[in-house]
Amino acid sequence: MSLHTGSPSSTEPSRERRRLALNPFFGEADPVAGMETAPPRHRLPDGPMPPSTAYQLVHDELMLDGNARLNLATFVTTWMEPQARVLMGECCDKNMIDKDEYPRTAELERRCVAMLADLWNAPDPSAAVGCSTTGSSEACMLAGMALKRRWAARNADRYPASARPNLVMGINVQVCWEKFCNFWEIEARQVPMEGDRFHLDPQAAADLCDENTIGVVGVVGSTFDGSYEPIAELCAALDALQQRTGLDVPVHVDGASGGMIAPFLDPDLVWDFRLPRVSSINTSGHKYGLVYPGVGWALWRSPAELPEELVFRVNYLGGDMPTFALNFSRPGSQVVAQYYTFLRLGRDGYRAVQQSSRDIACGLAGKIEELGDFRLLTRGDQLPVFALTTTPDVEAYDVFDVSRRLREHGWLVPAYTFPANRQDLSVLRVVCRNGFSSDLADLLMEDLRLVLPELRRQPHPLSHDKQAATSFHH
Ligand SMILES: *Cc1c(COP(=O)(O)O)cnc(C)c1O
Repeated sequence: MSLHTGSPSSTEPSRERRRLALNPFFGEADPVAGMETAPPRHRLPDGPMPPSTAYQLVHDELMLDGNARLNLATFVTTWMEPQARVLMGECCDKNMIDKDEYPRTAELERRCVAMLADLWNAPDPSAAVGCSTTGSSEACMLAGMALKRRWAARNADRYPASARPNLVMGINVQVCWEKFCNFWEIEARQVPMEGDRFHLDPQAAADLCDENTIGVVGVVGSTFDGSYEPIAELCAALDALQQRTGLDVPVHVDGASGGMIAPFLDPDLVWDFRLPRVSSINTSGHKYGLVYPGVGWALWRSPAELPEELVFRVNYLGGDMPTFALNFSRPGSQVVAQYYTFLRLGRDGYRAVQQSSRDIACGLAGKIEELGDFRLLTRGDQLPVFALTTTPDVEAYDVFDVSRRLREHGWLVPAYTFPANRQDLSVLRVVCRNGFSSDLADLLMEDLRLVLPELRRQPHPLSHDKQAATSFHH
């Protein structure tokens, strides 16, 4: 399938400027003026139209999008306070890259990096380096590039002449890591799932490492089931590898979701810069960082982890401002909203919000388990996310049927098949976020109870197009 092809001719009527029953109210003042034709959809209209008309046309078409708050598939923030929206509106015309023009926005970005370095226990938070990004995907690309560049510098005698770099990870990594390996020509070495282990095994990861390994990615937590990967154990396995072989393999922690959960709810879990082997961490400000899309963060333990030649300089108050990014222009809104949220909530506020999401996830998981038809793979007690499947005696329907029936009630609960070596396992996953209240969770339970009797009466599972059902679960 090609990307963004031109207009499908079948949907465009032969006479483009056809008469159309547009609502006459959409006209500016005179309901009969200028409202006789609909604008073409796949080429630029010949002339302008009143802003109110354009607004209404676009607004109406978008009504058919799903309701973001009922989307239990996404990790991305779907609710913010009105004050945050106001601030975002005030900053949407400021270009993040113009550090000279907007020095206060640049300063707020730096404060966010400092706050995260402190939150993630950098040994010297003032020495940690980092930047905002459009999301975790860009942050992971940057972190991966730094790993690759450091490995290349250590192996200048062999690369690019003969050696080919590899990156070790669990097969459950988010798709951005496959993209990274593809775009930067790195071999992805993936530890498969095995039995009831749905994420990386530390020893298996260490066993995949060799002299061409640029690093190991550990995920806190996994998009597949919300579980945390054992980062401390991974570092210990790599410590042992170094003792045995001399190979010193750095770890990057993909904390897209958990980077903003674990520090507040699991302060004793050691997964971050407290582990000397962890050289960089990313998170999505727009997931449990509680900001609308798109903002992410990438941090390195110290300048030594980020090769100097990757950093570009832009003008900043007549001086030099280092930047590390794939893109150039980007609005200031999201970074400002991140700073607002840090300021607004503080540690206690974040703890309360995340605890409430975890409580709702655990409560909902428990209630679904009580129905008797489902087996929980995770319980929502790490990320506020849980995955479940049907019990072996359920033969009348499958998780894809459940997903489809819930959709009739407005709920988006994705169903998908696990990767190797558990392709036999199909699951539903529920992501609980700020804004998914216990009232909404009760309503979801009500709807699930409503569809179950019919599902149980089915002669057999009805979903044929399982690939389509699996499309959105990252
Ligand atoms: C969501 C996610 C990503 C990608 O993050 P974006 O912010 O959507 O670009 C990467 N890794 C993990 C573990 C994720 O959950």
